[in-house]
Amino acid sequence: EFVDYVESGEETQELTRARAAGEAGKDFGGQLVVVTGAGSGIGSATAQAFAKAGARVVVADIDEGAAKHTADEIAAQGGDAQVYRVDVTDADGMDRFAEYVRDTFGVPDVVVNNAGIGVGGPLLDTDEEVWGRIRSTNLDGVYRGCRLFGRQMVERGEGGQLVNIASMAAFTTSAGLSAYSATKAAVLQLSECLRVELEPAGVGVTAICPGVINTPIVRNTQFVGVPPGVADLVRRQAIRLFERRGYPPERVADAILRAVRNDRAVVVVSPEARIGRTIARISPAT
Ligand code: NAD
Repeated sequence: EFVDYVESGEETQELTRARAAGEAGKDFGGQLVVVTGAGSGIGSATAQAFAKAGARVVVADIDEGAAKHTADEIAAQGGDAQVYRVDVTDADGMDRFAEYVRDTFGVPDVVVNNAGIGVGGPLLDTDEEVWGRIRSTNLDGVYRGCRLFGRQMVERGEGGQLVNIASMAAFTTSAGLSAYSATKAAVLQLSECLRVELEPAGVGVTAICPGVINTPIVRNTQFVGVPPGVADLVRRQAIRLFERRGYPPERVADAILRAVRNDRAVVVVSPEARIGRTIARISPAT
């Protein structure tokens, strides 16, 4: 089983229209949802989408001000959001976070391991510090979220859903993105293996692979070993591409809610339907 669903927009547009028209249901009412990296971009949109669907949301981010901003948006729409400052690279901090959530709000029904950073540059110029930073955020953070909250879900015995944000970089080839892509491929594989491990306990695991999404990560991507002029050029080109063709993060949020409802294994969310079709052809749905 590889990609089992490709989101290319039409359904999302329908859902967005239905939501704007006030037709979307509160089918996550009474559920607790944890989102890491929820202060910005995809995480913020996801926290807001779950809140609109009735869930109580724990908005977690290393940037407490950003998390608070997301929570304020949710509160302004009549939703229920709690803010928690957590650094997913900090093992002890993640232990405390998971305990705090369980003891204060209960075992979450859905956990979205979304926190991630973008770092680009040639691998030969990627030193241990940079490699460690990107690995500990993008991969170790997902491992911790899955292990700690997955254990809570299994012990509770009422199922649950773990959602890990990988990327299309998990299976596309990009010069200058070796380290980032390696972490995302690892997240995809972790998710698929964990899905099999947790199936008997009724806990679902989903890997989401967004393509081109218009969020601050593009502007904030750091480049190592690349002359500043070249890095600026790449950044400007990426921003132009994203502005022209990128999905807004709300599209990914909608896809995440649908993936949770349908317990999807691997979902690609990309405006590049052509790429989506190619992937689907290489890896037929099972
Ligand atoms: P973003 O930069 O807008 O948001 C990332 C959030 O994660 C920020 O609020 C940041 O403060 C938080 N964060 C960073 N390090 C953290 C840490 N150690 N602990 C806790 N929080 C931390 O980026 P985004 O585009 O919304 O990215 C979200 C996820 O989606 C990432 O995993 C990213 O790799 C993935 N993704 C993004 C794209 C894209 O094109 N934007 C495509 C594929 C995958």
